[in-house]
Amino acid sequence: MIKGLYIHIPFCSIKCPYCDFVSITSDDKGLHRRYIEALKKEILLYKELDFDLETVYFGGGTPSLLDPELLSEFIYFIKDQISVVESPEITVEVNPKTYRYEDFRIIKEAGVNRISIGVQSFLERNLRMLGRDHSVKDSYKAVEDCLKSGIENINLDLIYGIQNQSLKDLEKDLEIYTSLPVKHISAYMLTPYEGTPFEQSVREGVYRLKDEDELYDMFVLINSYLETQGFLRYELSNWSKEGYQCRHNLFYWKHVPFLGIGVSAWSYINGKRSGNTGNLKEYLEKIEKGKKPAVFSETIDKSEFLKEKIFLGLRLREGVPVKYLSGKLDSVEELVSENFGLIDGDRFILTEKGLMVINRIVSLLI
Ligand code: SF4
Repeated sequence: MIKGLYIHIPFCSIKCPYCDFVSITSDDKGLHRRYIEALKKEILLYKELDFDLETVYFGGGTPSLLDPELLSEFIYFIKDQISVVESPEITVEVNPKTYRYEDFRIIKEAGVNRISIGVQSFLERNLRMLGRDHSVKDSYKAVEDCLKSGIENINLDLIYGIQNQSLKDLEKDLEIYTSLPVKHISAYMLTPYEGTPFEQSVREGVYRLKDEDELYDMFVLINSYLETQGFLRYELSNWSKEGYQCRHNLFYWKHVPFLGIGVSAWSYINGKRSGNTGNLKEYLEKIEKGKKPAVFSETIDKSEFLKEKIFLGLRLREGVPVKYLSGKLDSVEELVSENFGLIDGDRFILTEKGLMVINRIVSLLI
C-alpha cells in the first residue's frame, strides 16, 4: 500500500551555490503548466498501484514558484484520481519571497496544511554568504502571512556551519526561530556537495569550512536550545513540537512505501527502489510519449534492507534494535564506552557526539 507521494518541482528563481537538488531557473508559466500536465500523466501511469495516501509532499526546487491556482489544480487532480485518506498531511516547500497571504489561502483551500519555509537564517549577513535571493524581511512576511491564512503547521529551515557564523550568531538565530509560533525546525549543516560552485570555492580555499569541533559545538547548541524551547529532536536534522513530526519524512526513514513523481524523484514500492531521470527535457519527452520516466531500478534484498534499516534508523532519536547489530557487538560496546552511542532497553541510539560522525559510524556497523 502506497502511503506517501512526493512531487518534485524543478524550478527556482536562482540557483543557490551550495545546492545540488535538480532544478533550473525558470519562471516561464508555459513551462510550469506543461510540467504539471506531465505530472498528471505520470500519476495516471501508476494508477494500477494500491494507494492510500496519508502524505503528499511538494519539494524541489521551489514549488512556490508555481501559481497557487496551478498547484491547487494539481492537488484536486490527485484527490480525484487516487485514494487519499480523510485528512492527509500535505506539505509545500516555500521560498520566503514568493507566496503571500492570498497564495497561502488558495492552497489551503485545496488541502495544504503544512508549509516548509526556506528561511535558512534570520541574519542578513548569513543569507548573503549563502547566496540566497530572499531577505530577512521576506521570511518574517512569509511566516506572518502563512499563519494569517490559517496554516499553523509551519517548518522553518536553518543552515549552520556558515563561514564567519559564530556561536553567538547561531544563538541569535535560534532565539528568533523559537520566538515565532512555528511547530517544526529543520537544521542542516552546510555541506559542499560535489559539483556545486560552493564545493569549488571550498576546494580553492575561498570558502573556509568549519572544523569538526566547531560543528559539534553548533549542533549541541542547536539541540539544547531547541529542546529547552519545547522542540524535540526526532531525527538527525529535525526538531518538532509534540505531535508535529513530519509524517512524510518519517515514511522515508521507516521504509513505508512511497511514490515519487517528477524529474529526479525516487520511489520505494514493493521492496524496489527506482529513480526518474534528472533531465527535464528527457522527462517531458518520455511522459508525453506515454512512457514511464524511471531510469533506475533496484530490488532491495534482505541484507541491503537490514543495512538501510541501520543507516536510516541511526538518524532517528529512537535508534535501532540492538539485534540488528548482532554481528558488530564489539563495535557497539566500544562506541558506547566512548560516548558515541548508548543502549536504551533493547535499542542502540547515537548520542550528539555520535550523530556528528554518523557516516563513519554507519560504515563501521554495516
Ligand atoms: S531555492 Fe532551494 S532548491 Fe532552489 S537552488 Fe536554492 S536551495 Fe536549491
